[in-house]
Amino acid sequence: MDVPKVAPRSAAAELAGLLDSPEIQTLIRELDETRWTGRPGYPLRAMVGMALAKSMYAIPTWTRTVRLVREHAALQAALGCDGGVPSEWACYRFAAKLRVHSALLDACTARVLAALKARTPAMGEHVAIDGSDLPAYANGQRYVSKGGAERERFSDPDATWGHRSAVSTRKGGGYYGYKVHAAVCVVTGLPLAWTVETASAAETNFALDLIDSVRERGFDPRTAIMDKGYDNGPIHNGCMDRDICPVTPLRQTGRVKAGDANAPTCEHGEWTFAGTDYKRKATKWRCPTGECKPASVWVKADRLHPLIPRHTKRSRDLYSSRGAVEREFGRLKHEWALLPLRVRGLDRVRLHADLTILAKLGCALARTRTVPVG
Ligand SMILES: [Zn+2]
Repeated sequence: MDVPKVAPRSAAAELAGLLDSPEIQTLIRELDETRWTGRPGYPLRAMVGMALAKSMYAIPTWTRTVRLVREHAALQAALGCDGGVPSEWACYRFAAKLRVHSALLDACTARVLAALKARTPAMGEHVAIDGSDLPAYANGQRYVSKGGAERERFSDPDATWGHRSAVSTRKGGGYYGYKVHAAVCVVTGLPLAWTVETASAAETNFALDLIDSVRERGFDPRTAIMDKGYDNGPIHNGCMDRDICPVTPLRQTGRVKAGDANAPTCEHGEWTFAGTDYKRKATKWRCPTGECKPASVWVKADRLHPLIPRHTKRSRDLYSSRGAVEREFGRLKHEWALLPLRVRGLDRVRLHADLTILAKLGCALARTRTVPVG
């Protein structure tokens, strides 16, 4: 995405711009129509603004968000809270309301994504899918203390033990909490669909649902780029049924070891790849000398014989763009305060992720609307 040169804006101005955008204005109006009787009646613009400010300033708790806004007149002006800064209790009540009206929040996110796509038509053509750990705001140890009694009640009953893989700065291993699963556009680096699930749930269960959400939001993905863990028959075939080419490394299953994934061969040697027919969903392979009759065959696509063969440069190039999803998890966690979690329970963690990502997408959209300088 080409980023225009823009004048630096203050975060308060950015927040005001976000709240004035038609996408967020519609959310405010729709929430207003649900007749919220929030005592002591802060305007919904201020409440939505508090929620967005929390992510924009990467603040983990409502308490600290309230404290920040109390100290900054510019933020208060952006929120339009002349009647006083909303209390943290008002924020809790507002969060509860949003959980009830999560469909309105979803629709708002869809509007923001549609506006982004209108500016970047290639958005969503290639998506990378992965999951990432969200450690719970709770202790999952089985014993209250070393050698002590067994824990009877867990403070976050929805959290479970899961496994995370190693990254450069940290060993892999078990953790207690949740996992966010996301489909990220590799062109813009922005998330298009996501879900939070308990940590023990297998990543592969959510890939096709994520792809369906991406499509429902108006994108038309051509490839789905995933790591080896997603290389199984149902995901491969599910992608193909949706006219999407899965791009994954080959998982070493029994059939692979038996040589079923190898190129066809004949007495003249190994056959060479001669192109893909996306309509026919098959790849063409040719005898190296052309002496065989017939000299070429079509191979129906499946996990062992993908439409974009794994040895091709195109496959390698697409796969190398998978890093987009990991980088986006990193930014959401560290720059937008997706972590540390300071809420418990699946519904609350989901709302936290939804608000965090909406704030990020909203800011990305606002930046495309800012008038370039000079
Ligand atoms: Zn031959």
